[in-house]
Amino acid sequence: MKKALVCGGGGFIGGHLIARLKSEGYWVRAVDIKTNEYGNGLADEFVLGDLTDMTIVNQVLDQPFDEVYQLAADMGGAGYIFTGENDANVMHNSATINLNIANRAVQEKVKKLFYSSSACMYPAYNQEDPNNPKCSEDSAYPAAPDSEYGWEKLFSERLYLAYQRNYGLDVRIARFHNIFGPKGTWTGGKEKSPAAICRKVIMAKEGESIEIWGDGQQTRSFLFIDECIEAVRRLMNSDFIFPVNIGSEEMVTINQLAEMVMEIGGKKRTLKHIPGPTGVRGRNSDNALIQEKLSWAPSRPLKEGLEKTYVWIAQQVAEATK
Ligand code: NAD
Repeated sequence: MKKALVCGGGGFIGGHLIARLKSEGYWVRAVDIKTNEYGNGLADEFVLGDLTDMTIVNQVLDQPFDEVYQLAADMGGAGYIFTGENDANVMHNSATINLNIANRAVQEKVKKLFYSSSACMYPAYNQEDPNNPKCSEDSAYPAAPDSEYGWEKLFSERLYLAYQRNYGLDVRIARFHNIFGPKGTWTGGKEKSPAAICRKVIMAKEGESIEIWGDGQQTRSFLFIDECIEAVRRLMNSDFIFPVNIGSEEMVTINQLAEMVMEIGGKKRTLKHIPGPTGVRGRNSDNALIQEKLSWAPSRPLKEGLEKTYVWIAQQVAEATK
């Protein structure tokens, strides 16, 4: 039986990944600083611990795991990573986690390690035109991410690649582009736009408007969680050792995203544009490389994933307001 360690297993993607690994017959240990509010039940072991603390890292990474998934990071949506207020914590906490894990993984002779990087590492200067952003893997340099979160991701990509070159650590690196779906953060300040907009639409009464940060003309693409997990598993099973995008190429403006959600909810509301952190003007995944190397592309349209997410958030809102 293969053994996997999921760091950040109490989080959104980690929770879904654990379910997938269990369905494939893995023995799974998860570690996180918090439990997963939507169920930890599936991991064989769940360790509550802080991965910035080397004693915890030594405790959980105590054997030559077949696979380690490093998803733990101090992160959130635009309201968390683009305001500047959390920059020092984001850089310190996430970099420390990655430094600890890379080192320990080599000591314990981990067979393969997955690292979750982010599209936020791409240079801001290629993402100024909302209709024509450039996010191909080879456009990463000269580096100019628009957030400290992005700089840390770039640093940690390089860290794992250096461990690969110098110590033979077998790594796979994905640059995720806006992953969304059920069991993700939907309130509290760390939620991302699809979840935030679903919540706002669900809670908007007759005559109330939906608040959107900025003019809503900024573009993004969003990838449904099941598609993401499939791509992660394919990457881990492949021999491709360089960073690769895992995202969708179905680019929409935030206004269009809101219109789509209102259509799903059958609620027509006006959009009210307010000042807020928005990030780059345009971003879209470029899937040429992953298509070529892993024969992977998202299989379903954005709207389908949004429908599932909307239904799940509506249940959460109903529970919370009971
Ligand atoms: P998440 O916040 O739900 O998961 C991250 C988990 O890391 C959380 O459960 C958090 O408690 C845990 N963590 C933070 N600090 C820790 C610490 N010191 N010790 C132990 N655990 C700690 O986020 P997610 O959406 O599941 O993202 C998973 C990974 O994918 C992250 O590395 C994130 O940066 C990356 N990523 C996600 C997206 C996305 O759209 N969701 C996009 C790009 C990159």
